[in-house]
Amino acid sequence: MAKRIRRAAVLGSGVMGSGIAAHLANVGIPTLLLDIVPRELTKEEEAKGWTLEHKQVRNRLANQALERLLKQKPAPLMSKDNIALIETGNFEDDFHRLAEVDWIIEAVVEKLEVKKEVFARVDEVRAPGTIVSSNTSGISIAAMAEGRSDDFKKHFLGTHFFNPPRYLKLLEIIPTEHTDPEVVAYMKTFGEDVLGKGVVMAKDTPNFIANRIGTYGLLVTVREMMQGGYSVGEVDSVTGPLIGRPKSATFRTLDVVGLDTFIHVANNVYENVDGEEKEAFRVPEFMKTMLANGWLGSKSGQGFFVKQGKDILELNYVTMQYEPRKKLATPAVEMAKQAKGTAAKLQTLVYADGDRAGTLLWNIIAPTLLYAARLVGEIADDIVAIDQAMKWGFGWEQGPFELWDAIGLEKSVRKMQAEGRDIPSWITDMLADGATSFYKTENGRLFYYAPGGYKTVEENEKVIHIRRLKEARGVIKKNAGASLIDLGDDVALLEFHSPNNAIGADIVQMINEALEEVNRNYKGLVIGNQGKNFCVGANLAMMLMEAQDENFFELELAVRQFQQALLKMKYNPKPVVVAPFAMTLGGGAEVSLAASRIQAAAETYIGLVEVGVGLIPGGGGNKELYIKQLNSLPNGVDVDYVKIAAKVFETIAMAKVSTSAAEARELGFLNHRDGITMNGDHLLYEAKQAVLSMYEEGYRPPVRKKVPVAGESGYAAMLLGAQSMFHSGYISEHDLKIAKKLAYVLAGGKVPYGTAVDEQYLLDLEREAFLSLIGEPKTQARMQHMLVKGKPLRN
Ligand code: NAD
Repeated sequence: MAKRIRRAAVLGSGVMGSGIAAHLANVGIPTLLLDIVPRELTKEEEAKGWTLEHKQVRNRLANQALERLLKQKPAPLMSKDNIALIETGNFEDDFHRLAEVDWIIEAVVEKLEVKKEVFARVDEVRAPGTIVSSNTSGISIAAMAEGRSDDFKKHFLGTHFFNPPRYLKLLEIIPTEHTDPEVVAYMKTFGEDVLGKGVVMAKDTPNFIANRIGTYGLLVTVREMMQGGYSVGEVDSVTGPLIGRPKSATFRTLDVVGLDTFIHVANNVYENVDGEEKEAFRVPEFMKTMLANGWLGSKSGQGFFVKQGKDILELNYVTMQYEPRKKLATPAVEMAKQAKGTAAKLQTLVYADGDRAGTLLWNIIAPTLLYAARLVGEIADDIVAIDQAMKWGFGWEQGPFELWDAIGLEKSVRKMQAEGRDIPSWITDMLADGATSFYKTENGRLFYYAPGGYKTVEENEKVIHIRRLKEARGVIKKNAGASLIDLGDDVALLEFHSPNNAIGADIVQMINEALEEVNRNYKGLVIGNQGKNFCVGANLAMMLMEAQDENFFELELAVRQFQQALLKMKYNPKPVVVAPFAMTLGGGAEVSLAASRIQAAAETYIGLVEVGVGLIPGGGGNKELYIKQLNSLPNGVDVDYVKIAAKVFETIAMAKVSTSAAEARELGFLNHRDGITMNGDHLLYEAKQAVLSMYEEGYRPPVRKKVPVAGESGYAAMLLGAQSMFHSGYISEHDLKIAKKLAYVLAGGKVPYGTAVDEQYLLDLEREAFLSLIGEPKTQARMQHMLVKGKPLRN
């Protein structure tokens, strides 16, 4: 049996090797990062008088990779501190150290011969039982293992990460016939639970799943574009969010990936398949010219698009000149934009015969669906693996078979048949059997079609789907903004579902009702949801309207009720675990701070950003962030309240938002008792487990104590900082006004240093400041700007 992975080594510190090492560090695994020894000195090295024998020279490649990790954006490291877990070395001096690790990942150049040589050396030094894997994009895994020992082969498999490894969810696992099934099962669980990936089992075929279908779809798109005389910009304007794909659509994605990488991947299939399929992977001449010209995309400064001053120009693939970007704005596109949801948009588009955009999309989508259908069994066991691979690897909202269901299987197949397209027999058989969709749900369980009948979609037991839970069990309570659901095992879930999950009166009311219900009938409560973001704050539009109408009485009441609901939550007799993920801003952060415990997704971007709209937090966030930092200090140590208040002041005044849950901990939004979940799909499960364990431990709410504050001296210190920033022109007069109010609230007003005050007093100060700011024209202008433009106004 395989070892448990406690230490790892990555061979090759290029784009992927360094990214994988960073992600291993993110999950706390000490990692050795090795690369080849340079054969020549750089000028700087010569100047320092170093020789090729100098350690710094010999480890240069891996060391440089480490430096890049600290600078790269988006950050590969969840916390800069994690870099300490990566140790660098080289293939000559440190290779023997591979005997110390439990998992060796190869990420060297994509050449079979090079990889085979590396593995031959690995075989000599690895300890028995050590797992070895390749990150190849598409070379045969079995071919790489040829000639290796039996123990090596038993522990060898493909682990295909996508770039960048921290952010792209997909991990394809590719066993060979020799791989021990226990090793495969272990790696699947390890990938999901520890690395937080979406693991898909793939077969050892060229490019595995996502890149096989993705490359095919891309080349179909290029050919259809050329045949129909569409422009690069026109194609991108309809192949992005309109059809449930990322904003970068088709060609912008290619620019990011790099044309050289893409062509390499496409050629790998071209060389390994025959007939019609081979032709489909032939790269068009103009793309070869681009490659020859070095127009590789972002990394070379130009590709399908180029930035000229403020403008983005698109490549005209006939003249090979750049020209202004065009968009497709046909009647079908306009109608689709009005339609609600991706399924409705797609239906509007793909059946719009004669419409230029509709025709293009149908001609891209139909062959891609049919291609995916032909490959079931060959590249993956079932349609589920293919759908998941495309969603997790390419950021598609729906995989091919889900999309097919969305446009209607029977209707689309009729259209395909009318056009003389070749339909795989398993699909015509399926329809003849009366099965008219690839997926169906029954009693909250999801089934997929496989020849012979529907089968249950098997998932990690930690994956909870709120939608399916509601289908199966209904809801306990519900209003327009939130629902209370039974999560099972006597734990309830409060789900926000207002637009953008913004907090309004309805959500506040449901917080109160949820607490009552939970205290009567449940062991505890989870607050979480599965929207795009946990919560982007309070309902700004509603607040602005009230402020402009000078309904200060209503505003005061709304803020007071929000404060009281969160206070009630904080002291609730049963545990409340809040499960933030992605954007958790303003009120979303305040809800989190009031929890008995936070269970945050690793990718949580939390912050009290009210200053950006001319306000300060109004739901107790000021005091809670302060108290949280205070409570994180051990009892009995000398506490400097001014320093603590000043740190909180800086976080709120600068509207700092964490770039990960680890960073949220550094900012003080999370403490050592709060949990972090690597796999976002497991978040609700782990939040529920946290509730259960607190309940079992005999949960007691915190004791309501008075809070010692920094008082007048704290206020003066915070103010001084703000004033000097104002005088040096960093902040505006209105910023200074907001800063003063914030400082006053955090200091606890005009009281002597160290005075212990009641929480209600702090809430009153906060509410007063909040209401005075919302009446300010400049604050209202900031709110308006945020609502219209989506970004802060500096006034
Ligand atoms: P890269 O060019 O950035 O890095 C390649 C690494 O191999 C470098 O560290 C280099 O020093 C090392 N190397 C070069 N020659 C070597 C030799 N003779 N012996 C040993 N090491 C040598 O490449 P990359 O993009 O990081 O790709 C690495 C692997 O990951 C490849 O197999 C690639 O197909 C795969 N992959 C790449 C991507 C991607 O998007 N870039 C995505 C998934 C998988």
